[in-house]
Amino acid sequence: MAKLQPVRGTHDLIGHEARAHIALTEAARAVADRYGYSPIATPIFEFTDVFQRTLGDTSDIVKKEMYTFEDKGGDSLTLRPEGTAGVARAFISGGLRNELPLKCFYAGPMFRYERPQKGRLRQFHQIGAELIGVPEPTGDVEIIALGADILDALGILTETTLELNTLGDLPSRLAYRGALVDYFTGHADALSEESRERLTRNPLRILDSKDPGDRAVINDAPVFDDYLSGDARAFFKSVRAGLDTLGIAYELNPRLVRGLDYYSHTAFEFTTEALGAQGTVLAGGRYDGLIETMGGPATPGVGWAAGIERLAMMLRDPDVAVRPVVLVGMGDDGEREAMHLARELRCAGLTIDLQYKGGLKRGLRRANRINAAAAVLIGADELLRGAVTVRDLDSGEQVDVVITDLTDHLAAYR
Ligand code: ATP
Ligand code: MG
Repeated sequence: MAKLQPVRGTHDLIGHEARAHIALTEAARAVADRYGYSPIATPIFEFTDVFQRTLGDTSDIVKKEMYTFEDKGGDSLTLRPEGTAGVARAFISGGLRNELPLKCFYAGPMFRYERPQKGRLRQFHQIGAELIGVPEPTGDVEIIALGADILDALGILTETTLELNTLGDLPSRLAYRGALVDYFTGHADALSEESRERLTRNPLRILDSKDPGDRAVINDAPVFDDYLSGDARAFFKSVRAGLDTLGIAYELNPRLVRGLDYYSHTAFEFTTEALGAQGTVLAGGRYDGLIETMGGPATPGVGWAAGIERLAMMLRDPDVAVRPVVLVGMGDDGEREAMHLARELRCAGLTIDLQYKGGLKRGLRRANRINAAAAVLIGADELLRGAVTVRDLDSGEQVDVVITDLTDHLAAYR
């Protein structure tokens, strides 16, 4: 057996970190609910083909980041590296074409074989939203507004910048692609091997390169704007006008291309300076070609995903736990009554921590450690009178409370 370590790039969520993940996810879900986006949960693994076909053979994810394995039946399966492909697959295999527009929100673990570093894990978590079946720019505006409102609900919108670009429609992309191939071919010597390889397969993605040598060449590359068709230009203009109407600020970034091959028109990222190199917290765009590429009916889509770990790193006060009330029973009778009262109070909606064993001193130490709001001390003597002692742990004040009044008395600690 291997030594007992978590697998590199994986991470246990414990205590307030686990709680912060849940709270963050629930806060996002609440906003998505108000937008009318329903929860969706697709399986954590899919046939490898689902990702290979949608993400494209030249994407980083398919080329080097997928956790792919053969199962006992000989099928090639892959742990999902992202959420959109699974949702699109569910749309097709579930025959949901009569349910358009499909508006959904998901949260869950994703898996990518990457070099682990701050903000970059091999099992990480995403929240994400997809809007399927809306070809209009209003869809792009809504999905971006949803992202912005979630960041706002988390209190971090003001620390982010919305970067916006368009990848145009197919005619625009083909024209731009030609211009890029001409330009980069002339500078092929200065490009990294990876980018030279992309030159023939997917030149647009060279713009996404993080290689410093590539960046220098990219700086003078042709910009998409000069190759946009009238339709694509009008579409982008509507998206920008919609964002203006909603008062959502953005910066145009002509170098912004998503890492995945199926995007068209709008591409966007909410980025931050607060996290160092891993500055993209929420990223997405329009993927009108995706569902057809997968063999489904031509259906437009737009969506985004955000890394929960990166969002959590930006939260200032992630501890949102309800402060419990600790019940400390003393002696056999006290312990039995504590166990009994604990259940009663929990059923009444209070957050109760039961001190299983160990008496007053240990009980109060624990109460302090878990930041309890109050302690209920249950001793044999008071029990004879049908009473307990309630100590407020902030003020230190202590009162005698008749057991039948306890639920009412503790209402202040809900
Ligand atoms: P990057 O450029 O950082 O590799 P990406 O383009 O691969 O990002 P997407 O596929 O768009 O990222 O995923 C959306 C979001 O998911 C990212 O903005 C980020 O917040 C999060 N994310 C992606 N990969 C990881 C990872 N390995 N660990 C933690 N979070 C991640
Ligand atoms: Mg990546």
